[in-house]
Amino acid sequence: MSNDFSGDFASLGLPENLCESLKAIGYELPSPIQAQSIPVLLTGRDLLGLAQTGTGKTAAFALPILANIDLNINKPQALILAPTRELAIQVAEAFQSYAKNTPGFHIAPIYGGQDMRAQLRQLQRGVHVVVGTPGRVMDHLRRNSLDLSRLKTVVLDEADEMLRMGFIDDVEWILEHTPANRQVALFSATMPAAIKKITTNYLNDPERIQIESKTKTVDRIEQNYVMVSPSRKIDALTRILEVEDFDGLIMFVRTKTATVDLAQRLEARGYASAALNGDINQKQREITIEQLKKGKIDIVIATDVAARGIDVPRITHVVNYDIPYDNEAYVHRIGRTGRAGRSGKAILLVTPREKHLLRSIERSTGQAITETRLPTSEELTTRRVSQFRESILETLDAQDLGEFKDLVAEVQSEANVSADEVAAALAYLAQSDKPLFVAKDKMLDEPLVAERREGRDGRRDERGDRGSRGDRGDRGDRGDRGERRGSNSFNSIPMDCYRVEVGRNDGLRPGDLVGAIANEANMRSNNIGQIAINDTHSFVQLPQNLSSEVNQILKRIYVRNKPLNLHKVDSSDFPAKQRRERSGGGGGKSDRGSNSGGRGDRGSNGGGRSERNFKPRERFQAREH
Ligand code: ADP
Ligand code: MG
Repeated sequence: MSNDFSGDFASLGLPENLCESLKAIGYELPSPIQAQSIPVLLTGRDLLGLAQTGTGKTAAFALPILANIDLNINKPQALILAPTRELAIQVAEAFQSYAKNTPGFHIAPIYGGQDMRAQLRQLQRGVHVVVGTPGRVMDHLRRNSLDLSRLKTVVLDEADEMLRMGFIDDVEWILEHTPANRQVALFSATMPAAIKKITTNYLNDPERIQIESKTKTVDRIEQNYVMVSPSRKIDALTRILEVEDFDGLIMFVRTKTATVDLAQRLEARGYASAALNGDINQKQREITIEQLKKGKIDIVIATDVAARGIDVPRITHVVNYDIPYDNEAYVHRIGRTGRAGRSGKAILLVTPREKHLLRSIERSTGQAITETRLPTSEELTTRRVSQFRESILETLDAQDLGEFKDLVAEVQSEANVSADEVAAALAYLAQSDKPLFVAKDKMLDEPLVAERREGRDGRRDERGDRGSRGDRGDRGDRGDRGERRGSNSFNSIPMDCYRVEVGRNDGLRPGDLVGAIANEANMRSNNIGQIAINDTHSFVQLPQNLSSEVNQILKRIYVRNKPLNLHKVDSSDFPAKQRRERSGGGGGKSDRGSNSGGRGDRGSNGGGRSERNFKPRERFQAREH
């Protein structure tokens, strides 16, 4: 939170009961986005709020909503759409904490993966605010279990992320099903064209509030990187953990298997650690975060999606064990530390071949990431020895050693050796798990030099604007680059082809598949390849070697009320014709330029190029490298 506040919460027009709660929570002054948004939202006006993560957007919309709620009306008066369950839960928790002094206030979080009946019960009992992920909110609207007749406000939280996850059609659909006179507040960190379109189509003369803090979120976070060879990452990490003075630490890896693997290795090294990934059930995830909060766990190893939005003040360090593929993910990751105005430290492990990704991150955040080297064997030795000394002195000071002295004296006389020798033997024993004298290790002791890979890297670095999927306005000029960006994310991932038993006749759109798979299987949407939709079934490309757990999850997913029943098929089954249709954008129509949405078509992957320049077969193969 920055310091340029103006006035206190009461002066923004918030009622006393809310101001009291804020005081109890420890918010002294509104953050800039809060100071500017709250008065506008209180008047009922639409709002477009542009601000980075960590700027306090939740309270910016939650407080005016709470101020305007009529507790006598037992129907939802505000609906907040959030991209993931974690964020939905977090928003609901924030509401609860702000509503401490608002007895009778009820909020229901609704998200996929949770038992529908519990949610139905909650909704039936009557709630004032609903916060949910788009898919589940749609489900409830379809079953008429969510009554929006008294809705006053809709908030789209992290709109760009919802776009990125393929939910934008759903968001629009939901907006279409809200009363015409409702207030809409849209919050986003970036403003891709599809979000602009939503703003134009669904917001009524919105007040635009932009918090110029491109770098603010990361300002108070010290950012370092260490160059390390891929095979030595775990050893490098161990050295880092040994010298860093951390309280809570969150570590990011690329795969779910790595979360589990590293958690086990760190446990074995004596760190209280846990994995956090999309395969782990919601309940367990909540338990893990709670344990991290309470200090029962110090290290959480997570994938991006699983860790999004985690807000645990005691996280002092973020370790990027695997460098993120995109810059935005980096900012989100390191934003897990330095919460609520504290300072934090982010450490990135970079292998020589990944140096271009590092440069790209620096360029996009406008901040340098400082190279540091690992502690050397000698430094570790010095450190261990001095800690050992200290613990000896402490023990001499604090413990009654009578019996032990006798024991030493006995050994001494039996073996006819000096006290020095006995002490040395004991010291040796005491360190056997973790040697005091660290052997030299050339690979880790000496700084690694990165390879230079110009040209290709320079281009790869241009991945600024994400979430362009589905926005077609500026396609022409982004064209070439958009295509390359798409293929970047695919070229590195070999894909398999899968068939799912849901199709056009079920109302399936590509965005449904992307959203469901990304959310349920915790897969980044850019790991989801081409999609081809037929009448009764569809095809989707997914990375090779999916774990059996992911396979299980994917089989169980329901989309459009039908189980996916996903199963692998031969890549040649992927229909060339549909591929071609689809990648033009939402079906063959787009060739005529009449498709206004282009939604959910995986535009950022196929996007950009005129389809006519492309033979489907080539395109398909290009994906497979
Ligand atoms: P965003 O949604 O913009 O990423 P959050 O709403 O999650 O940000 O807020 C980030 C953190 O800042 C949370 O821990 C929140 O409790 C804290 N916070 C929000 N507003 C204030 C404030 N006015 N004073 C102190 N802390 C705040
Ligand atoms: Mg937020």
